[in-house]
Amino acid sequence: MKSPREIISEIRQTLPPDVRLVAVSKFHPASMIEDAYAGGQRVFGENHVQELRQKYEVLPQDIEWHFIGHLQTNKVKYIAPYVQLIHAVDSHKLLTEINRQAQRNNRVIDCLLELHVAQEETKFGFSPDEMYDYVRQAEWRQLQNVRICGIMCMASNTDDEARIARDFQQAQQLFDRLKQDFFATEESFSIRSWGMSDDYPIALRYGSNMVRIGSKIFGPRVY
Ligand SMILES: *Cc1c(COP(=O)(O)O)cnc(C)c1O
Repeated sequence: MKSPREIISEIRQTLPPDVRLVAVSKFHPASMIEDAYAGGQRVFGENHVQELRQKYEVLPQDIEWHFIGHLQTNKVKYIAPYVQLIHAVDSHKLLTEINRQAQRNNRVIDCLLELHVAQEETKFGFSPDEMYDYVRQAEWRQLQNVRICGIMCMASNTDDEARIARDFQQAQQLFDRLKQDFFATEESFSIRSWGMSDDYPIALRYGSNMVRIGSKIFGPRVY
């Protein structure tokens, strides 16, 4: 069996140089993260606050931790001191709380807005129109301790590649509109976080520059 670091190095060879790889380590032990770390990987993604905190405490301090899952407002305070990027901001209420906790920690937290394009009803996130309106309204501009750096999305959970491509294409189109209409002069608005183990090759065709890959690197998760 190949080790996480071997698989990461294989994946890297297929990624264009401007694409960042988030190794999604949720449900996998710290020892597997250490293996990937030894191979040079520094960016890891988690989706449970408590698990992230435990790993943060025992693993090297120069790891860049991304929170990739649905985040409850009452849990923001636990990750606010050190999280580098929050991928799935899906409401003004959540962004306001991230801002408040960032302020308390005397820092600015980078965030992505979560776009809902998948066919599943249960997924969180703004619809394309909601997101456009939210960014246009500019209420968020008063939040000095958060920085909106781009958007993230998950494609439909399906084998239908045309459907997946359509989801990512919508994300790419919305990103381009937001960039042009509201962030043209803001270099930091640049992150397009889409693509997971099974669909990242498609995501790369539709402008992704940040892929979040878990099971392909670390194997199946035992929940
Ligand atoms: C778990 C997860 C991933 C990684 O999924 P894999 O299919 O294991 O690559 C990516 N993004 C989010 C938001 C996740 O929750």
